Amino acid sequence: MTEDRPTYAVVGAGVAGLAAARLLAGLEAVSEGATGSRGARVVLIEASDRPGGKVRTGEVAGVPVELGPDQFLRRDPSAERLARHLGLGDRLRAPAGGTAGIYARGELRRLPAGLVLGVPTDLEALAASGIVSREGLAAIERGVGRAAAYSAGELGLGDEPGAEEQAAGELLRPQLGDEVVDYLVDPLLGGINAGRVDSLSLAVTAPGVARALLGERHVLSALGALPPPTANGGPVFYGLEGGLGDLVAAAAGELQAAGVELWLGTAARSLAGGPGGYLLETSGGTLACEGVVLAPPAGQTARLLQELAPAAARLLGDVVYADVSLVTFAFEEGALVLPEGWTGLLVPAREGRLMTAATFSSRKWPWMRRPGVELLRVSAGRFGDERASRLGDEELAEVLLAELRQVSGSSAPLLDRLVTRWRASFPQYRPGHRAGIARARQALPPGVALAGAALGGIGIPACISSGERAAAEVLAATRPA
Ligand SMILES: Cc1cc2nc3c(=O)[nH]c(=O)nc-3n(C[C@H](O)[C@H](O)[C@H](O)COP(=O)(O)OP(=O)(O)OC[C@H]3O[C@@H](n4cnc5c(N)ncnc54)[C@H](O)[C@@H]3O)c2cc1C
Repeated sequence: MTEDRPTYAVVGAGVAGLAAARLLAGLEAVSEGATGSRGARVVLIEASDRPGGKVRTGEVAGVPVELGPDQFLRRDPSAERLARHLGLGDRLRAPAGGTAGIYARGELRRLPAGLVLGVPTDLEALAASGIVSREGLAAIERGVGRAAAYSAGELGLGDEPGAEEQAAGELLRPQLGDEVVDYLVDPLLGGINAGRVDSLSLAVTAPGVARALLGERHVLSALGALPPPTANGGPVFYGLEGGLGDLVAAAAGELQAAGVELWLGTAARSLAGGPGGYLLETSGGTLACEGVVLAPPAGQTARLLQELAPAAARLLGDVVYADVSLVTFAFEEGALVLPEGWTGLLVPAREGRLMTAATFSSRKWPWMRRPGVELLRVSAGRFGDERASRLGDEELAEVLLAELRQVSGSSAPLLDRLVTRWRASFPQYRPGHRAGIARARQALPPGVALAGAALGGIGIPACISSGERAAAEVLAATRPA
């Protein structure tokens, strides 16, 4: 090292990388049990020209809109704590109360009460919703007698989940029947991950549900026995008035004020061993450092590790991603026909449409309301369905507008629209994911740690916590005893 203080590098300035850099720079931790260190040189390397990664706010019809996430869960308090720590506490907003609809069996229908990630716990409400047919209801009745004795391994739980882990769909279809899984569980649980329940790990995507199934349990009685979800009192989610883009901008500003070097427009290319630590080759030159947090998506991390840790690189290279495209439409106020109180709708893959979901943004977020304008964000793309990625922006917007008009029965005049592409953006937590990531981490040399959504938590709080955890690992491995 040329400096007498240690140098730490963080690759990727998404929320995970920002959180890791905060901790390495000695700023106050926001997740449980993490502590930082002072006096280090910290370099945060970001390939694009802005920090924040998928957290991004834009503008449509002159109104600020979220182009990535629009809210975060409060149960893991790290994102809320970060916002408050950065002085943004008075801009935290709960989404407007409302319900969502689902386009099932050719009609828009209200979601029934009592769903846990799409698994119904109130069968009367399910029957009244009309979402599943009489045959679908009968399939649930038949499934009630079919409680299976699942082992921790089959559920993907335990310290070393093995090859026997079953996908969420495989576990739930025999108990709930195909209609419930296709019309409810897949759009909700699969939708959060832009994937399909038939190829997602239940233990990663819904760990509470997986744990409840341990032993000889039917999912309905297991979920019925769970306590209601809590979120430290108050709303389950928060968004940020003005946009979450301000959260990442404030976090980057705090880092720079603390002396962290933010190298924007600089791509990390490879990592190798070097004197007293590592040499990180970037498009802006080579950085010698004692420890590194790698927080890009898994494919990029795999490329960086190819020489230094080929086994970890292979395992990370196995993580596949889904593309998601969004079109945010601005309509003339009052022209959109969606039932009062609905803030969104889901479209199951079984319906064969391009759109997967729509969020009525200006209803969900009162701060997005402007006289004369209504904002609606339509999503397309899920794992295995690349139709939206293959269409040009113009064509995609037209197809989604036509589907929206058909599904909602409205012919609202359009004022403006914005297409956002998130290619390879949603990691697919397939069965075996936790085991693969655990092995990849074990295969890393000391002082190199992984962070970000690739590890097994798609949400902003999980990514923040993963960043702090990775920074703490690097500090523990490199600090003199
Ligand atoms: C449309 C959409 C909606 C979402 N909705 C929600 C939601 O409502 N709530 C929620 O909690 N989560 C939501 N998510 C998920 C959440 O936004 C992401 O999982 C999270 O932001 C990922 O953070 P990250 O730091 O792991 O990675 P990223 O945000 O992907 O950041 C990684 C960074 O690494 C950089 N990078 C890559 N390669 C290199 C390299 N070689 N050198 C240097 N830099 C590199 C990238 O440019 C990027 O900035 C949503 C995501 C999307 C796309």
